Amino acid sequence: MKMSKLFVQTLREFPSDAEVVSHKMLARAGYIRKLTSGVYNFLPLMWRVLKKIENIVREEMDAAGAQELLMPFVQPKELWEESGRWDAYGKELMRLKDRHDRIMCLGPTHEEVITSIARDGLKSYKQLPVNLYQIQSKFRDEVRPRYGLLRGREFIMKDAYSFDTDEAGLDKEYENMAKAYKRIFDRCGLATKMVQSDSGAIGGSVSHEFMVITDTDAGENDVFYCDSCDYSANSNHAVSKLQPALVDGKDYFNKTEIIDTPNTHSIEELSEFLKIPSTLILKTLVYIVDKTPVLALIRADRAVEETKLMNSVGGIEIRIASSAEIAEIMADKGFDAVPGFIGPKGMKGIRIIADETVKDMKNFVVGINITDKHQVGANLSDLEIDNIEYADIRLVEAGDICPECGKPLLVTKGIEVGNIFKLGTKYSKPMNAVFTDVNGEMKPYVMGCYGIGISRTAAAAVEAHYDEYGIKWPIAIAPYHVVVIPVSTNDELQMTTATKIYEDLQKSGVEVVLDDRDERAGVKFKDADLIGFPYRITVGKTITEGFVECKVRETGELTKIKPDEAVEKLIEIVKNIK
Ligand code: ATP
Ligand code: MG
Repeated sequence: MKMSKLFVQTLREFPSDAEVVSHKMLARAGYIRKLTSGVYNFLPLMWRVLKKIENIVREEMDAAGAQELLMPFVQPKELWEESGRWDAYGKELMRLKDRHDRIMCLGPTHEEVITSIARDGLKSYKQLPVNLYQIQSKFRDEVRPRYGLLRGREFIMKDAYSFDTDEAGLDKEYENMAKAYKRIFDRCGLATKMVQSDSGAIGGSVSHEFMVITDTDAGENDVFYCDSCDYSANSNHAVSKLQPALVDGKDYFNKTEIIDTPNTHSIEELSEFLKIPSTLILKTLVYIVDKTPVLALIRADRAVEETKLMNSVGGIEIRIASSAEIAEIMADKGFDAVPGFIGPKGMKGIRIIADETVKDMKNFVVGINITDKHQVGANLSDLEIDNIEYADIRLVEAGDICPECGKPLLVTKGIEVGNIFKLGTKYSKPMNAVFTDVNGEMKPYVMGCYGIGISRTAAAAVEAHYDEYGIKWPIAIAPYHVVVIPVSTNDELQMTTATKIYEDLQKSGVEVVLDDRDERAGVKFKDADLIGFPYRITVGKTITEGFVECKVRETGELTKIKPDEAVEKLIEIVKNIK
């Protein structure tokens, strides 16, 4: 490809709406153009990258025994009613009507469609196991589309679904997919961590996410991990051991009483007023889980992990209650306390979930639903609450004790590029997707699903490989392997040498761009760095002595080399791409 013909317009500046590195770089280097919120054009350079990632995914999925198909992007409402997700999925599901008033949706994922395909075709245990996958556009009306390709509304995903006769079969396929995923990301040149993650309220399910660890702002997930053992988990799933707070409450309050605590609306204000550490305060938070209020109790130096809380009550949507909702709950229970003074006492008929560490608290301070008052020196037995349930609803903190080996946990940021999930019979049961087993009995398939964000993986690769000048693509997913730059297009020797190198590389299957533009060398170098070609061959003045210059984008390493040797070296490098 000649640069003069390549469809790419690099920008002088980063676009003003881009917050993270990958969005800034991909837009400025001419890979993507925004069409509307969360929807992007993948321009020719981007499309080459995406196809490379797709091909790696395809090769590894095929090698792992999965079969590719393609399902429709538009799906009928009825299928989503069968699984029960039409109501449950929420606003991310983009719903629309056709001309006959039939209601449809744009596929955000394909469990329903694949399960309907399976139940029509897989009737006997003899046909199982099967793993089917597709690479396709998805649409999710995300609350906050942001970060360019990392969280778009329309994006490309590889989604695979496995069907087995039993749990043991699923376990085996899950392992098989975990290994395939490791190979896929390794081949893409991406270091990933496989971490335990939340799998929703359905008990017993297992899921793992593949995270690209990053120190950029784009890491939306906190990953807790242990250096001494293998433990690593997304914060929405991470657990830790927590020692009872070191302070002994008896030193502060040895009898229980109700005292005035005027204007102590926050934990900081209360602990300051009472001159006590926050570990001595039992904090009460009001959440709304699927429209129902839930009280969460936690030691006040710690935070509630909302997904863990939601799972503990078996919900699918959670948010903190508004002050109006809190006022309504108070009125309903015959209290008029304002936030800051809420507590579990007298809250009959409301689910109360206490973090398991609350059991260890003694002689603590707690709100009792009277404004400007708290009970001090309290113990759970004083509070007369018979509807308390215990669960681990705590957000882990760095330094907490690893649940597996007892060493302190560390925390880092991660971008989720893929996940694997044991679904069990979550879809096959309600959708009556069954097969006949060895004994002639009808059984629902035991399913797994396995996703990879193709477009997100490309963006994550940029987050992991860039410098101030631009992108440093790992060679396996770079749009082109090499750019050849004649410093002066008017210099005949430079131009003929550059053209010969270009043609020789092209003939041998190296993907190469010849920057034949009549531009200053500086402009060409800048564009080469920005676009992120892994190798640059510069043909300049030294060609009169028989040398060109080869630059490695990743390391910045420069070598003076003969043109033929440069060609040979690059052919060899490209041959070795896995
Ligand atoms: P997230 O928690 O980031 O929203 P998810 O759990 O909704 O992801 P899945 O439904 O399992 O993700 O989708 C599989 C893969 O698709 C994810 O691992 C991710 O790589 C990609 N993906 C999900 N949502 C988006 C999005 N809005 N934009 C780009 N890629 C996405
Ligand atoms: Mg999501």
